[in-house]
Amino acid sequence: MEKLIIEKSNGARGVIFNGVKDVSSLLDKKHLRKQEPNLPQVSEFDVVRHFTNLSRLNFCLDTHFYPLGSCTMKYNPKSYDVLCSLENFSCLHPLTPATNAQGTLELIYKFEELLKGITGLSSWTLQPSAGAHGEFTGALIAKTYHKKDKNRTEIIVPDTAHGTNPATAAMCGFKVVNIKSNAHGRVDLEELKKVLGPKTAMVMLTLPNTAGLFERDILEISKLVHAAGALLYMDGANLNALIGLVKPVDMGVDIMHINLHKTLAAPHGGGGPGAGAVGVRKGLEELLPLGRVLFDGQKYTLLTKSKKSIGQVKSFWGNIAIVIRAYAYLRQFDGKTLGNIARNAVLNANYVRVKLKNYFPAFFDEVCMHECVLTIAKDMPNLKALYVAKRLLDLGYHAPTIYFPLIVPQALMVEPTETESKQTLDGFIEAMKQIFEEAKKDISMLEHAPHKTEIGVIDEVLAAREPNLKW
Ligand SMILES: *Cc1c(COP(=O)(O)O)cnc(C)c1O
Repeated sequence: MEKLIIEKSNGARGVIFNGVKDVSSLLDKKHLRKQEPNLPQVSEFDVVRHFTNLSRLNFCLDTHFYPLGSCTMKYNPKSYDVLCSLENFSCLHPLTPATNAQGTLELIYKFEELLKGITGLSSWTLQPSAGAHGEFTGALIAKTYHKKDKNRTEIIVPDTAHGTNPATAAMCGFKVVNIKSNAHGRVDLEELKKVLGPKTAMVMLTLPNTAGLFERDILEISKLVHAAGALLYMDGANLNALIGLVKPVDMGVDIMHINLHKTLAAPHGGGGPGAGAVGVRKGLEELLPLGRVLFDGQKYTLLTKSKKSIGQVKSFWGNIAIVIRAYAYLRQFDGKTLGNIARNAVLNANYVRVKLKNYFPAFFDEVCMHECVLTIAKDMPNLKALYVAKRLLDLGYHAPTIYFPLIVPQALMVEPTETESKQTLDGFIEAMKQIFEEAKKDISMLEHAPHKTEIGVIDEVLAAREPNLKW
């Protein structure tokens, strides 16, 4: 791509692509400034100190262990930030014609090829900008797939699904049919059979489910779903538990999403930009959103017209910076290493689970996947998951996810991730044991934790009644 940096006589600089000589010449004169803007002048020291001090108020992955179950703050290599800041990516206008964006389209295309290899699902879209947005795309695909069968108005969602699953299905106009899981935290096949039928459009399975467990009956489940004429959706937000070990297509999955933020090297948290890549099995590709990248062996183009597509789900091509990180991750590690990444994620979660068995027992006492769901022991009725979470901040650990999944009382959902050292895990385990001992001695100290953070325990009732949104 031809790039030109212009410098105007007043010092303003502009980056110009593709032979457009002067950006200002494209604008109507009446929209141009008459005077330079009056911006405040601040010294570099003041700026650096301001942002450094702000960042120190933050409890983050760069400073602390962050075992936030289901929301994976995992391996986020800093070097990938450099890759997605490269000018040819970051300066590309979202409406640049495909002929001028061949490099970016090539990256998207090649990344989709890698996703095919990992999942076995044959076609992908990288457009959705979050996991929930991916689910919405999947539900729209199911709706379009069943267009001729107006009776298929229901989506079945087990009670171990992520909360976004039923919300998405409802948003898409489906009736949500909930099913209770069995005593092992898995889909109860008998319950499933009761509700599965000619009204079912799709079954949405979070896999691993939010109890951190693998659905052992997945093959039987997919057989039942397909026999009923419905589609099987896999919420693969946390594919890091399975990547390199099993292909969703082999489990009978028709549609799935992967959270590229979470599973593939971009942080999740704070609602920041994400990417919920959606894949479909053979036969459903024409329903994918418009804007799919095609390759004829020479050049990359965008598919902009199709009668069967659900349409576009995002105005541009997706959050490309997240895709670039995910692509780099998959290029850095081969299939065998990816399998080891998943194994380590599972090993770390089980290490924490077993070590804390006599303090905070797992609700389902069996081997878990990438996260373990702990709870408060029955003989400690005064201790609350909330106190544990707050007290951990005092001891230098970010809280795990609490009160989720809903089927577990006083849930503490711990996801260590695969890249944490044994030393870090041992430190966390010791902190949990300390809190357990403290709870026996002085529950009121825990009730008022945290004691050492910038902001102490907040009055949640007052905050809800009289929100003060300024700071
Ligand atoms: C995080 C998560 C989602 C939602 O992803 P967002 O990007 O936050 O919309 C959906 N399902 C599961 C299992 C998740 O962990």
